[in-house]
This record gives sequence, C-alpha cells and structure tokens, in this order.
Amino acid sequence: MATKVTIWNEFRHEKTKDAVKKLYPEGMHKVIGDALAKTGDFEITLAALDDPEHGLTEEVLANTDTLVWWGHCAHGEVKEEIVDRVQQRVLEGMGLVVLHSGHFSKIFRRMLGTNCSLKWREVAERERLWNLAPSHPITEGIGEYIELPNTEMYGERFDIPEPDKLIFVSWFEGGEVFRSGCVFERGNGRIFYFRPGHETYPIFYNEQVLKVIANSCKWCAQTVKISTVNAPHCPEPLEKIEEKDIVFGSAGISQTADKL
Ligand code: ZN
Repeated sequence: MATKVTIWNEFRHEKTKDAVKKLYPEGMHKVIGDALAKTGDFEITLAALDDPEHGLTEEVLANTDTLVWWGHCAHGEVKEEIVDRVQQRVLEGMGLVVLHSGHFSKIFRRMLGTNCSLKWREVAERERLWNLAPSHPITEGIGEYIELPNTEMYGERFDIPEPDKLIFVSWFEGGEVFRSGCVFERGNGRIFYFRPGHETYPIFYNEQVLKVIANSCKWCAQTVKISTVNAPHCPEPLEKIEEKDIVFGSAGISQTADKL
C-alpha cells in the first residue's frame, strides 16, 4: 500500500530569489514530490504556507502518514493552531520528516522542546555525511557516505535533545561536524531530522538525498493512530480488588492510619 506523504514547503524563496527560482521554479516540494511519486511507493500531497490553513487542514493531516517540512524565512508566520494540530497528529502516530532549515520551525522546536540552534556558514563548501547506521531502514541503498560538493555548513553544537538514534554525522570542508540525521520518538510518532537542503544549491536533485527522504518517509509512516488528548485516565480495574483502607493504605506497616 502506498505511503501517504504530504510535503509542506514555506515556498517563499522560490518566488523571491532568482537563484532559487531557477533551481526550483515550481518549488522544492514539487521536486521532492515528483521524485517520490516516481518510485510508485507514495501518494503525494503538496502543501504551502500561503494555502488556506497552510495546506494542513484536518482532512489533509488525517490522510497523511508522514509529513515532510521545509521552512526558513517565515517560521514566524506559521499559525500556532496549525502547529498544535500537527503536534497532536505526530503524538497520535503520524511521521514527521524535517529538512534542513526546518530545524528552526515552530513544529520541530515544539516536538523537541529545545532551541534547536546551530552554527552556519554559506561558502559552498564540501560536505560528507557519514552513514553511522548502515542496517537502519533510513540508510537502505546508501553507502558509507553521501558527498555533496557544495553546501551551506551547519555546525555543532546543535541544541537538540539526545537523539534516539543518530543516523548521519556530517564533516565539512571548513572543519565543523554536525549531527545530520537524527531520529526521535514523540508519543506514538516518529520524527527524522535530515540536514541537507539549502535552497540555493540543487540538493533536492541529488539521488542519494532523495533516497534518504523516501526511506525516511516510509520508516516514519504512521502505523497506529491513537489520540492521547482525551485518553481515559481513571479506569475501572480489570480484576476485582480486595477492599483496602481507603484513607492511606498500610504500605506493609502493621499500624493502621488511625493509630499513627
Ligand atoms: Zn540553508
């Protein structure tokens, strides 16, 4: 069965910066979506910041197994109510794949609870993403490393909680390193952060980058849908419980509460 993937893009740089427009005339989300659709394994929905409800209506999210997120200059314009909605979907089981500058998105910071700050430099330097988890489904078909000749550098310290699993570590020509592929679990959902994707380089045409995105969309995809918002919290016991001192209980001490 096809994995239902919604690709969310802020979709602003493609309209305002010539260099980005040239690379991604219809948006980065379109290029990623077309590549994923070509595999035959995905049903793709595209969503953008300027769409009504940012393209993330209740209906769209209900029909999403994995949400992919790219944002950069307009994180602040994402409405809190949509962030709440996406957060709840992740907690109930939807997957979330956050790309590149999405590290500063409201949804990523909400899910992780830290500032998610990092160092950066843009001088088209070489990056090598070392594959630390060759047996993980996210790195299926990826060799020892992915090499990108021209990238923006992201450097440590990346202010994130300890990942549940580290999948890639990047080395940069200028000497910095960075945790470029990180897996987190939150509630019933899986989150994958993947670093590549600066808008002025043709990163989303790189076959290995696209392969990792495809693999992660499958691996993060929703397998259960369990809302924990109104979860029952005071259930009737499954077994009959023998009557006890209802005031304090005894904790194994021989005195009863009224003798203390
Ligand atoms: Zn960037």
